[in-house]
Amino acid sequence: MDLKKFEKKAAKKKHKLVKFLKKLDKVVPEDLPRLVKEEDAEGWKEIECLACANCCKTMTPTYTKEDIKRISAHLNMTPKEFKAKWLYKDETGDWMNTTQPCQFLDDKNMCTIYAIRPADCAEFPHHNKKPFNLYNDTFINNVHRCPATFELVNRLRKRVEREYEW
Ligand code: SF4
Ligand code: SF4
Repeated sequence: MDLKKFEKKAAKKKHKLVKFLKKLDKVVPEDLPRLVKEEDAEGWKEIECLACANCCKTMTPTYTKEDIKRISAHLNMTPKEFKAKWLYKDETGDWMNTTQPCQFLDDKNMCTIYAIRPADCAEFPHHNKKPFNLYNDTFINNVHRCPATFELVNRLRKRVEREYEW
């Protein structure tokens, strides 16, 4: 995937997509879950995460206490050592990666701790969250970073504008 090309395309469309998501905060089509499911399935046909890894390259997961315990044990480290080596606590008290790309990403875009990765990574890009529209802020943050979120929101926008009085 050409991420530079994606960034350009997303930058051009971002305003339109953010406007759509903000409106979706107030006006919710009654069968939104079905629309999300259908358009998400179509969107993923265009995307291959292993050719992208932009989330691991440019964003940080939030580590829960359980994530830190599980991953540090796997690496034969104490949670304290793990945090000191790779994490920082942000202003809201969440533990985040100090650097990007993520230290666990290899040069083939693979996660070297895939089976025990943080829950936040396992749930990313959060398209299955319910109700979908409660996570609009997350999608607004990610629509220009995650090609899968871009595809979903753009497809959803076109569908809603086509089939509903919007
Ligand atoms: S989840 Fe999104 S940003 Fe992450 S690899 Fe897949 S398409 Fe890329
Ligand atoms: S832990 Fe794995 S999935 Fe999560 S950001 Fe790092 S490389 Fe990506």
